[in-house]
Amino acid sequence: MQPLFSSDDIARRLTEMGQQLANDYAERRLTVVSVLSGAILFTADLIRVVGLPLKLEFLRASSYRGTATSPGELQVECLGDLSALAGRDVLIVDDIFDTGRTLERIIERLNEARPRSLKTAVLLWKTERRQTSLVPDYYGFQIPDRFVVGYGLDFDGDYRHLPGVYALDEPGS
Ligand code: 5GP
Ligand code: MG
Repeated sequence: MQPLFSSDDIARRLTEMGQQLANDYAERRLTVVSVLSGAILFTADLIRVVGLPLKLEFLRASSYRGTATSPGELQVECLGDLSALAGRDVLIVDDIFDTGRTLERIIERLNEARPRSLKTAVLLWKTERRQTSLVPDYYGFQIPDRFVVGYGLDFDGDYRHLPGVYALDEPGS
């Protein structure tokens, strides 16, 4: 496993993101929607450095590749009441932007609730793999196309608890 970002690297970057968000969302009615399970550590740390009053909601996004549903179809399951987002300034917080399909689908779904604004924040952005016109509004770090774990991100359920981010694969593989 190759270390990419230590917990100190992440904390420093989150302080910067927190200041940016605190400016952008001052006097707004912020609701953070955290995408389970990968974004739990990122969400918990980010909301503490933003330092604004906010509400917190959760959703789960799961793909059903290889089942009866169409290939790659993505299910978005909101754990709270979607109508709570009406008129709010909603910030979707996810672990990683890879192809962008997941966030695209989540945005489509949350827009049904008619939020006042809808933006996205991700810890990691794999810039080489984007398959949509969407780009994240806020991101922690841009990374090459490597498979990463730690700080919430898993491989087969493992490694989520690691305080830093690591690449699991070999470079260029
Ligand atoms: P997208 O829809 O942007 O292609 O995929 C985003 C989702 O794929 C992320 O929320 C994450 O669950 C998963 N994912 C993409 N790349 C990685 C990676 O390098 N490591 C881990 N653990 N998950 C990833
Ligand atoms: Mg995810």
